[in-house]
Amino acid sequence: MLKVSIIIPVFNEEGNILAIVEKLTVVFESSPAIEFKIIFVDDGSTDQSLPILMSLSAKNPIVFYVSLSKNFGKDNALMAGINFSDADAVITMDADLQHPPELIPELLNWWKQGYDVVYAYRKDKNIHASFFTRVRSQLFYYIINKLSDVKLENGISDFKLMDKKVTEVINKLPEDKPFLRGIIKWVGFKQIPIEYEPDERSSGSTKYDFNTLISLATNGLTSFSTKPLSFAIYLGFFFSVISLLYIPYVLMSFYFHWDRGPGWASIIVTIAFFGGLQLMIMGIIGLYLGKTFIQSKKRPKYIIQSSNIEIPE
Ligand code: UDP
Ligand code: MG
Repeated sequence: MLKVSIIIPVFNEEGNILAIVEKLTVVFESSPAIEFKIIFVDDGSTDQSLPILMSLSAKNPIVFYVSLSKNFGKDNALMAGINFSDADAVITMDADLQHPPELIPELLNWWKQGYDVVYAYRKDKNIHASFFTRVRSQLFYYIINKLSDVKLENGISDFKLMDKKVTEVINKLPEDKPFLRGIIKWVGFKQIPIEYEPDERSSGSTKYDFNTLISLATNGLTSFSTKPLSFAIYLGFFFSVISLLYIPYVLMSFYFHWDRGPGWASIIVTIAFFGGLQLMIMGIIGLYLGKTFIQSKKRPKYIIQSSNIEIPE
């Protein structure tokens, strides 16, 4: 019998857990030939999520939980869940019912047809998001696609099915702060996108504030491209050439007494401009240096506090 694990990261989702288990159970009935497991990864929730998960998994034989020692972020929680799965394929999805469980049979169908990754991306009209959110997400995908070698569809989500071939690679990744959306694209194998229409969040509120989104975006970009570093070189080169052209003018104006005025404005403008430019470029270099620094510590991506499953060998 084929085994499939549904992996659901949970960060303060007390109002959604029972509902999603109920919906998934209905969906599972349409695929009786598959043995399903639901693995919830509690990502350091501070509400009743963990107690709910513990009591639910004691009663329901297909529900399992892994509890992390604190909030490690969604990608790390997903990594933990994938690590705990011994299934032939995993399906990752959000706890808030924004990823419609009704799509699971379609994911499974493509898998049975030989696809190793089936990933869902939002239809362009993301009706449940504000105008600002939509523009922001489009901008992010535009920049990441321009800068890096992996191509990500605008609106690509973490709702996806991965074959064991893929999860085995993911399990071995030593990368700190993995940007899973990009990594899963990067691993290759046979992949197919499918469209989905996100539902409204069922209960609670989004776990991402503006600052978290900025840091996720920066991490996504710097994980997949070193182009910002070469951008710094081009920019530096461009401005050095321009200043070289400026030097003859300065010397001649000195020699021929063209412009012996105080020159305050031009000096201040130049200092300010190049000061800013240098700081920006040092910042870009610093971002990468910081990543190397964190990675060199080889800290674990997550720490398990308790669980009712064993890590498979
Ligand atoms: N999540 C998590 N850890 C975090 C933030 C979010 O495990 O630090 C989970 C959250 O519980 C949900 C999923 O990731 O199951 C997506 O979160 P959310 O719905 O808040 O994101 P959005 O849909 O707003 O992008
Ligand atoms: Mg959501």
